[in-house]
Amino acid sequence: MNKLIIANWKCNPPTIEEAKELFEKIKDNALEKNVVICPPSIFLSSLICEGIKFGVQNCFWKEKGAFTGEISPQMIKSLGVNYVIIGHSERRNILKETNEEIIQKINEAVRAGLTPIVCIGESKGEDTFEVLNNQIKDIDENIILAYEPLWAIGTGESAPIEKVKEVKSFLKDRKVLYGGSVNSQNAPNYLEITDGLLVGGASLNSEEFSKIILCDI
Ligand code: PEP
Repeated sequence: MNKLIIANWKCNPPTIEEAKELFEKIKDNALEKNVVICPPSIFLSSLICEGIKFGVQNCFWKEKGAFTGEISPQMIKSLGVNYVIIGHSERRNILKETNEEIIQKINEAVRAGLTPIVCIGESKGEDTFEVLNNQIKDIDENIILAYEPLWAIGTGESAPIEKVKEVKSFLKDRKVLYGGSVNSQNAPNYLEITDGLLVGGASLNSEEFSKIILCDI
């Protein structure tokens, strides 16, 4: 099916040795499929290799300048990296990123030639479609979205298939990935109704992630 499968390693693992070890174990399967590995940016240069797609987990909204600690989309692109996750709920909530900043990041990423994967999703108790409407209102229709309800991220409580189907049809012709407690057991169900997956915790387990990749037949 050649669906897009994104591995979001978040702030893991803690050392480059462990990152290399994990990468070595998933590399061959990742080569076969449409997989994008998003390790911590500082590890990218040590991991990048021919044939594997890489992404980053965030970027800044300016090309260069006096912005201590930030990494620009142009810098990312210059490494040969083509994807960027933008607006992950951990960045929206813990780092207080706003919809406005997210739009600026998307615009700068596109200008630099990166493909953004923009995370959207509601918290428990919120109205899904109201939240999504607000999050996507200024996002171009050809940008890839990852529907990641906050209550499903890292909780083991993945979203019901019916809910993801409703979201997919609400988002009409947009490309939509699902993310939230994806594992090798539930991955085939989500792959059937979406354009791919954004995998967090399970992407750090080489056996589990390889099984997820190989679900896409
Ligand atoms: C994520 O990091 O976007 C995510 C969905 O995490 P997990 O798969 O661990 O729920």
